[in-house]
Amino acid sequence: LPPVITIDGPSGSGKGTIARLLADKLNFSLLDSGALYRLTALSALNREVDLTDEATLTEIAANLDIRFDLRDGEVSALLEGQDVSRDIRMERVSMAASKVAAMPGVRAALLQRQRDFRQAPGLVADGRDMGTTVFPDAPVKIFLTASAEERARRRSEQLREKGVSVSLRDLLEDIRARDARDMNRATSPLAPAEDAVELDSTGVDIDGVLQIVLQLVRD
Ligand code: C5P
Repeated sequence: LPPVITIDGPSGSGKGTIARLLADKLNFSLLDSGALYRLTALSALNREVDLTDEATLTEIAANLDIRFDLRDGEVSALLEGQDVSRDIRMERVSMAASKVAAMPGVRAALLQRQRDFRQAPGLVADGRDMGTTVFPDAPVKIFLTASAEERARRRSEQLREKGVSVSLRDLLEDIRARDARDMNRATSPLAPAEDAVELDSTGVDIDGVLQIVLQLVRD
């Protein structure tokens, strides 16, 4: 089987950016597993499905019609043929994604789909449970963290670049709510794999983190 590098951690830790840069550098495929939960959530919101209805949400996850397209170095997510890359990043979808991700049925429905991304010459997998549940045999596992305050600040900067202004307090509250849900759920809670290397990126810029990760991959 082709090698997998797993990058897990809480939202805003920078793992998405690191995963993309790493995949680029190594010419590996990229799995943004959070996007699968976001697409499930968006599809449910579009259909006005009750976000506590596990049976229906599981069915939606199992039958998702999605595709990821690489264009000009940017990955776009298509749901039923429509580009929803921006929609799945909305705060409302983030919250819904973290709710549907707490459901064992939804997680089970998405498991094989995630494993199918493992292709030669290798895969970089970004998420919460890549190293623990989806690719437990991965040779390199990284658990990337940063303080909640730093993650809220980074998110606020990203939003400001897009011309959106949200109070730091609201962002911090959102991040804490999502962390709590990710860490306290019964199925695949957010936690480092036993053999993961834990990296705290508070106060370290993206390039600094990338250098550390590349060194780990080379070792
Ligand atoms: O990483 P991202 O913020 O895009 O993920 C969206 C949501 O999906 C997270 O809040 C988390 O609850 C869930 N998720 C998960 N397992 C993964 C990836 C994401 O539960 N492997």
